Amino acid sequence: TVPRLQPFATTIFAEMSALAVEHDAINLGQGFPDTDGPASMLAAAQQAIADGQNQYPPGIGVPALRAAVARHQHDLYDLAYDPDTEVLVTVGATEAIAGAIVGLVDAGREVVMIEPYYDAYAATVAMAGGIRRTVPLVPDGDGFRVDRERLAEAFAVKPAVALVNSPHNPTGTVLADDDLAEIARLCVEHDVIAVTDEVYEHLLFDGRRHRPLATFPGMRERTLRISSAAKTFNVTGWKVGWVSGPADLVAAARTAKQYMSYVGSGPFQPAVARALDTELDWVSESAKQLGAQRDLLSSALADAGFAVHRSEATYFVCADPRPLGITDGIEFCRELPARVGVAGVPVAVFTDDREPWQHLVRFSFAKRPEVIEQAADRLRKA
Ligand code: PMP
Ligand code: GLN
Repeated sequence: TVPRLQPFATTIFAEMSALAVEHDAINLGQGFPDTDGPASMLAAAQQAIADGQNQYPPGIGVPALRAAVARHQHDLYDLAYDPDTEVLVTVGATEAIAGAIVGLVDAGREVVMIEPYYDAYAATVAMAGGIRRTVPLVPDGDGFRVDRERLAEAFAVKPAVALVNSPHNPTGTVLADDDLAEIARLCVEHDVIAVTDEVYEHLLFDGRRHRPLATFPGMRERTLRISSAAKTFNVTGWKVGWVSGPADLVAAARTAKQYMSYVGSGPFQPAVARALDTELDWVSESAKQLGAQRDLLSSALADAGFAVHRSEATYFVCADPRPLGITDGIEFCRELPARVGVAGVPVAVFTDDREPWQHLVRFSFAKRPEVIEQAADRLRKA
């Protein structure tokens, strides 16, 4: 392995999931749901296979899915994209991120990202030979907001790309409108491309609304938006994602994507297209349930003695074990599966400056209520 990729040898998700399996622990580490997506969508994929849609689909994605992605964004956010030139289907959001970074970031250029950051951001920036520059979130009551001073400093170096994730993994924060507006203003002022990871765009709680960065003034023409079927439709194993944005930015991601996977898998694409058109009620119901699961896990963690941060969206809640006398989240997560029978993920591994985050642990509530209850019983012994 080349030196610049050595820090990324094993993902934290693989490490913690392996520990969960070894100790037969409830896996609240890796974020994936334990219920299936809408039945009509599952049936549509099976039908597509039965119908023989089993050869290479078009490299940019099947037309029905590109059209559905464009329609969806127009209906929800009033963002208009040409399905033929401004939408690209990818192998999950993961390939969308990699394609965007490799296609848009030259060696030696900077990429701004919010810290903590999703692990793939750091790894793909390293693959591109870019330099990451982090802007930390800072506590704001029981939630988080962007450190504005660090944000201004990061843009002052004229980065190639700002990689913005909201709703935010791992904190479950929805970036405040004024933080998004400031990021947009800085992108315009410094002529920076925004790559936005919006995979949790439908999983907001308590009546919150998602606002794509592309809808802010001056941003539509400089933003590559990323989303995925994984979290919206409970199919993390299907690996269907997409990017949308102005044709030149989509072309950059497409160029890289062609040599990463060539094309995505065929039969899942028409199924996801159908779901985007017909299953948004299922999605709202699913988000509502997820909100109830968030409540359940948050109060279980509080009962167990953790200080619990507010989760506004996503699959995740962050818990502070310091009231239990625990200060090292990494150590704590390594021993938790064996000791208690529950797996979590330490937030510090998603940061460069570990100090402010070293205690914090991320738990996923994308599990059936009975599973969360069982995890809660175990966590009381933490
Ligand atoms: N970005 C974020 C913030 C994520 O949490 C995930 C995991 N779903 C991904 C990207 C990767 O998405 P996918 O599974 O569609 O590749
Ligand atoms: N996005 C999910 C998480 O953050 C899964 C990540 C993964 O397995 N790479 O847990």
